[in-house]
Amino acid sequence: MFNVTKKIVFIGGGHTHSIVLNLLGKCPLSKVRLILITPDIYTPYSGMLPGHIAGFYSYSQCHINLQYLSNFAGSELYLDSVVGLDLKNNYVLCANKEPVSFDVLSIDIGSVPQQLSVLVGSEYTIGVKPVSRFLKCWYNLQENIWNNSGKSFSIAVVGGGAGGVELVLSMIRGLQGESCLKLPNVEFHLFHSGISLMPNYYYLVGEFIQDLLLSKGVNLHLKERVCEVIKIIDDRLNVKCESGLILSCDYVFLVTQPSAASWVKDSGIATNDDGFILVNNALQSVSHHHIFAAGDIATMINYNLPKSGVFAVRQSKTLYDNLRRIMDDQPLKSYKPQSSYLSLIGTGDGKAIATKGNFTLPPHKLLWCWKDFIDRRFMEQFPQ
Ligand SMILES: Cc1cc2nc3c(=O)[nH]c(=O)nc-3n(C[C@H](O)[C@H](O)[C@H](O)COP(=O)(O)OP(=O)(O)OC[C@H]3O[C@@H](n4cnc5c(N)ncnc54)[C@H](O)[C@@H]3O)c2cc1C
Repeated sequence: MFNVTKKIVFIGGGHTHSIVLNLLGKCPLSKVRLILITPDIYTPYSGMLPGHIAGFYSYSQCHINLQYLSNFAGSELYLDSVVGLDLKNNYVLCANKEPVSFDVLSIDIGSVPQQLSVLVGSEYTIGVKPVSRFLKCWYNLQENIWNNSGKSFSIAVVGGGAGGVELVLSMIRGLQGESCLKLPNVEFHLFHSGISLMPNYYYLVGEFIQDLLLSKGVNLHLKERVCEVIKIIDDRLNVKCESGLILSCDYVFLVTQPSAASWVKDSGIATNDDGFILVNNALQSVSHHHIFAAGDIATMINYNLPKSGVFAVRQSKTLYDNLRRIMDDQPLKSYKPQSSYLSLIGTGDGKAIATKGNFTLPPHKLLWCWKDFIDRRFMEQFPQ
């Protein structure tokens, strides 16, 4: 099919693309030009991000350098944000660069916390994604709190799933530092619309986490749906819930349901109602067979998968195989997700919980050592 030089364009340097590019560096495709379009040189590894907030890992330990990776893969790197697709003429539309033509396109742009449709005043909140923006806010917050020990601070996190819970626990450790001494001037509030935390996990996980959060003095607001954030005097914010509860805070972080960038749906590619790209078992768009998608932005039509870094990582081998196969006009391979998988959830204090299906182990240092080993080994595969 493709015997002259063809172009594969990768949009987003997420988990899946990072691994695919690494594999392409080890076993290059002939007569194929590779282009990666992504806004930042560094892309975070989600497994170690909470550990960075907690102060266990440096920035470079939990970020993949996409310039090094592109060099290794023989790919060109365009630092830009994609804002649309021209699917009639096969062009990627960028915020700054000229349109980029492609023969085959692969999309791995992740997701962002759901905001505007559900929350009035979301412009005053800090979404945990894009991670680069979130980290800038986090470093500023740390400075502000450490430089103003006489002032009281109140931090709200909206979302009691794995991301929200890990964020609160990591922020507590990240502010306390190695002393682990409770900061008397900082209070945390966690808002969760459900009755129990981490509803996507076995109930024991939520119970362990709830006990831990309460032991650290976190104010839990269960069955509270935040509907509005209002700016009041001196940069303080009022967090308003549907129940009528109003709390005054200094920082409001959103770790709500993942949502898709609007340009994806606007491009005309087939998506579900939430704007995620519909893909078949080969990770191929159901409407455009020369376009692939993986990670959070993809929704497999035959499986109901959570938006998790675990699946973004696991999909990489199938995506890699299929990009090679489409170039050789070979039949594509199918990705079959595992029905249950091991999760190691850091608790921000040098411990972790292990859970797989209904099997759950409470927080323990050895589990953290195991998680730390797996995560470091994952990062070691990339060019340093
Ligand atoms: C606090 C927190 C902790 C988490 N912890 C875990 C965990 O421990 N384990 C786990 O499995 N999952 C975890 N998750 C979920 C995990 O972060 C996501 O599922 C995972 O990042 C998805 O990977 P991805 O490859 O789809 O995209 P991402 O890794 O999010 O990468 C997307 C890439 O696309 C780029 N991009 C975005 N928009 C554009 C654009 N318009 N144009 C070009 N490039 C673009 C971004 O810059 C980025 O490089 C956590 C999430 C949060 C919020």
